[in-house]
Amino acid sequence: MSELIHLEKQGDVAVLTIDNPPVNPISSDVCAGLAERFAEVAADDSVAAVVLTGAGRAFVAGADIREFGKPRDPNKPGLRDVAMQIEDMEKPVVAAINGACAGGGLELALGCHFRLASPGAQIGLPEVNLGLIPGAGGTQRLPRVIGAEAALDAILGGRLMPAPQAKAMGIVEDVIDGDIVAAAVDYARKAAADGVELPRASKRTDKIDESKKNMGLFDDRRKAIARRYRGFEAPFYAIDAVEAAVTLPFDEGMKKEREIADITVASTQSAAQRYLFFAEREALKIPDIPKDTPTKDIKKAAIVGAGTMGGGISMCFANVGIPVTIIDESQEALDRGLGRVRNNYEVSVKRGSMKAEDVDKRMGLLTGSTDIKDVADADIIIEAVFEEMNLKKEIFKKLDEHAKDGAILATNSSALDIDQIAAVTKRPEVVIGTHFFSPANVMRLLENVRASKSSPETIATVMKLGQTLRKQPVLAGLCPGYIGNRILRVYLREADELVFEGALPQQIDKVIYDFGFAMGPYAVRDMAGTDVGYQARKLAGTNERQYILNDRLCDEGRLGQKTGAGYYRYEEGSRTPIPDPYVENMIEEVSKELGITRRAISDEEILERIIYPMINEGAKIVDEGYALRASDIDVAYVHGYGFPRYRGGLMFYADTIGPDKVYEAMERFHKARGDIMEPSKLLEKLAKEGGKFTEQ
Ligand code: NAD
Repeated sequence: MSELIHLEKQGDVAVLTIDNPPVNPISSDVCAGLAERFAEVAADDSVAAVVLTGAGRAFVAGADIREFGKPRDPNKPGLRDVAMQIEDMEKPVVAAINGACAGGGLELALGCHFRLASPGAQIGLPEVNLGLIPGAGGTQRLPRVIGAEAALDAILGGRLMPAPQAKAMGIVEDVIDGDIVAAAVDYARKAAADGVELPRASKRTDKIDESKKNMGLFDDRRKAIARRYRGFEAPFYAIDAVEAAVTLPFDEGMKKEREIADITVASTQSAAQRYLFFAEREALKIPDIPKDTPTKDIKKAAIVGAGTMGGGISMCFANVGIPVTIIDESQEALDRGLGRVRNNYEVSVKRGSMKAEDVDKRMGLLTGSTDIKDVADADIIIEAVFEEMNLKKEIFKKLDEHAKDGAILATNSSALDIDQIAAVTKRPEVVIGTHFFSPANVMRLLENVRASKSSPETIATVMKLGQTLRKQPVLAGLCPGYIGNRILRVYLREADELVFEGALPQQIDKVIYDFGFAMGPYAVRDMAGTDVGYQARKLAGTNERQYILNDRLCDEGRLGQKTGAGYYRYEEGSRTPIPDPYVENMIEEVSKELGITRRAISDEEILERIIYPMINEGAKIVDEGYALRASDIDVAYVHGYGFPRYRGGLMFYADTIGPDKVYEAMERFHKARGDIMEPSKLLEKLAKEGGKFTEQ
């Protein structure tokens, strides 16, 4: 194993370099190699001190997450053993942190006596993002080095910190410009020559003694993260582990850490979050569009429609330095739209997430116009006008006239047939859907929708654009509602059906909230406005069962939060939904009109009857080829619809409860409700074969 760890002697200093491409993840072989090499240099009398570094651009970018969940060979040393072995060395050991030092990488570095870092190194413990805690001494050593409070900041933040910040927190001794290994060799040699007492993290008590004076810290933290991490287990476990570092001696703290780490490694939540980690990367791969497909350079964008979405999408471009021309019909609409953008930026400044001088910089990238000809120099044009087919066709005819050759013509439509839109142009190969989510500057999902004639170059370009805009792109095929809204329709339909049968909006919202969504369907409808699509439905004369209640609320001017009443009522100036007996009466009337005798409905029934049909619809989407893979549905639902990340997404969740169980329920629903509940073929197959959606 020692070939993974190079040994080079620079005089009396041994330099050990971890070389496990591409980013030196800690695997069991790396641990075995380190154990061998440290034993070798400990026994070598010609070695006075040791430097540990990483080959290439990383120190150690983390544990090898492909090894998670696999049984560990008890005869091989683990990272905990190696960190202890290093700490116990009689010769000074200096970590030369040359690049990414994450998770197990930092735990390894904490075993070293001293840590120096390059200015560009990123350092931290991101385990909670994968539903884990640092499990190789990180929760015990870090509080001993920087105190419990700062350790909690680092572990719960889950982010990698730039080296100067890590220095300010006391995680590294110094940040070194220039040759980090040379500096570490000098540092190590001097420490050996001076015979300094070696600081061993496990033996340190100074910071722990300070932390003991504020034992309220732990409960305060639990309360402080209760909202942000609602439903997540790992961050709370991490607090328990850091608390153990303060209350227990090191060895017992390590035992506690191991117990907790073992629970998290085996947890469904961690499996879900690790699955998503890979699913998010997989979503970028499109089987018939090779990685080397040429993409267009997007240096300038134009957005048509300065409304809610157009404004938010413009911000996404401005945020990454791409200039945007925003087109709307009237100066008034433009001023309103640009005013909203500025206001959003100013709110970010107030919250401290943006610098004041950046507001003008970003606003400076936005140019308003009422003349559609001004799309002429844009590399991509995204249409975000009202959701009306004829209007969109009209706009695309004009775009075809004025857009430069090679420009991408995209629509932000939520559900419309993009082939029809493409057909009005002479260049359907550059027409595609780029479906952003509201608020577009915040939500991470970009659902790109491939129309029949979208060219590989067009598809590859918008997938790359998603990454440029720091979004999570997913590619959907063209069907009504695409991936996301096709499933959402089922969600809303089933919620209403339950309301007709006897549930109330507040009960449904609570079940969905407790499941882990940020809000239930009725609170969301009140927030968005119950009048979304109302006029269009009235004009078209559609009277779908799904909108009976909603449109009756609209008829009475109950448009949601903005009018102080919708499915709920709202006190002046408050966004807290208050159940309203008036609406309950209205619901009872609707049930009566539909000939339904209302009954009590349990929370379990609500969850099953909403989530299982959504899973079934997802399975149909995979079956029909509109999603490339089940995991794309999960990525879309987590990033665009607030599906709880710790449940992995709809299809992963289906796997955790068992496709057979979902199928059995769908068969029951099918008998009771007919065709709309027909089980998908894929679901049926998996149920019968004992397969899983996420292992196809
Ligand atoms: P909006 O009503 O807030 O804005 C539409 C804008 O288009 C208005 O400013 C209007 O003046 C402008 N407009 C209308 N006709 C125009 C024309 N001929 N030329 C130029 N501008 C014109 O609508 P929105 O909520 O931003 O939705 C825009 C699109 O995005 C729709 O297709 C919608 O389905 C889709 N979408 C909306 C959401 C959402 O949550 N609001 C989410 C995803 C997608």
